[in-house]
Amino acid sequence: DVHLNLNVRGLKQSATLSINERSAQLQQEGRQIFRLGLGQSPFPVPQPVVDELKANAHQKDYQPVRGLYVLREAVAAYHRRMHGIDRSAADVLIGPGSKELMFILQLVYYGDLVIPTPSWVSYAPQAQIVGRQIRWVPTGLENDWRLMPEELDRICREDSSRPRIVILNYPSNPTGDSYTLDELKALAKVARRYKVILLSDEIYGELHYRGQHVSIARFYPEGTIISGGLSKWCGAGGWRLGTFTFPHSLRWLLDAMAVVASETFTSTSAPIQYAAVRAFQGGMEMEQYLNQSRRILRHLGRHIWKRLKAVGAIVSEPVGGFYLFPDFGPLREVLAARGINDSVTLCERLLEETGVATLPGVEFGRPREELTLRLAYVDFDGARTLVAAQQIPPDR
Ligand code: PLP
Repeated sequence: DVHLNLNVRGLKQSATLSINERSAQLQQEGRQIFRLGLGQSPFPVPQPVVDELKANAHQKDYQPVRGLYVLREAVAAYHRRMHGIDRSAADVLIGPGSKELMFILQLVYYGDLVIPTPSWVSYAPQAQIVGRQIRWVPTGLENDWRLMPEELDRICREDSSRPRIVILNYPSNPTGDSYTLDELKALAKVARRYKVILLSDEIYGELHYRGQHVSIARFYPEGTIISGGLSKWCGAGGWRLGTFTFPHSLRWLLDAMAVVASETFTSTSAPIQYAAVRAFQGGMEMEQYLNQSRRILRHLGRHIWKRLKAVGAIVSEPVGGFYLFPDFGPLREVLAARGINDSVTLCERLLEETGVATLPGVEFGRPREELTLRLAYVDFDGARTLVAAQQIPPDR
């Protein structure tokens, strides 16, 4: 690999994919596998959105680099409606997945990336690929793995002149937790004090099923980029459509990203952009679809949370998205007696011995010896069975 760029040397294919490959292999051998590894929405794409995609299958031309105007306007209107923040079409950038937009952001921005752990698996490898400095911020189980404002303050104070992007992801992958209103306000206050850019990854925002999702952009509108897309709430990960919504003051960053976009992905698939307009416009059908999704997730999340607590794991009650991040630390001795002393071995043995596919906490930036796992409660069949048996209690 002598001709590989130094930044990508040593990078491996993500663990998510390896676990998936091993699960598929076991399945082929006739084993029953419970797929709690890959974080993919279990729900079908809402029918009106599918209809719109079909109706626009003939749209074949390259699209404007920043995205279709009607879509950018729909996304801006969505943020005005949902978060009460003033955004227009000119503040929005559309891309083939928010992951791609995050990558381009890291490419064009000059400064450090602050990542609280545990966090989504791709932030750090992206930073490494483009040679960006990462500042890890550990969080604690005692705070349900949330970034505390004092901790953010401490990091920013170290060298307050350094330009920084701080990533916040809520509801969180991998923990299923989110921030309270007071915490968002306090974090926003620190961010404003040090003029950091917040990348607010709200891809699971619509799947907040205990209480209302609130964007930190409401409290720090001038420095927050909201990241979103169709992948989770519309169950359309494979369609590849992500959105970044910028404050007016960061237009220079949007412009720079659009230049890179024009030389790389060119534009997002045209039919999918037309379909996305329908999704962001909202309306009754979308609301019904989302209420149903949230109800099922709330039920499944609560069920698994209780079961995990019953076996002795430390785990906080999920509030949104479809993940849980249990710590099996209290079972350390029992597990050690079976040769399990770290999250990777725990994950491998669970898969081999019980057929349950999960991901090890180390992939989310936690120390390897910690006995944490991420569970995605997106077993399609399980959810379908529950719905068919009408075991999902009505919303109250
Ligand atoms: N952010 C988080 C926290 C995620 O879990 C994911 C997908 O797994 C993404 C971003 C990327 O989503 P997409 O690129 O499909 O928009």
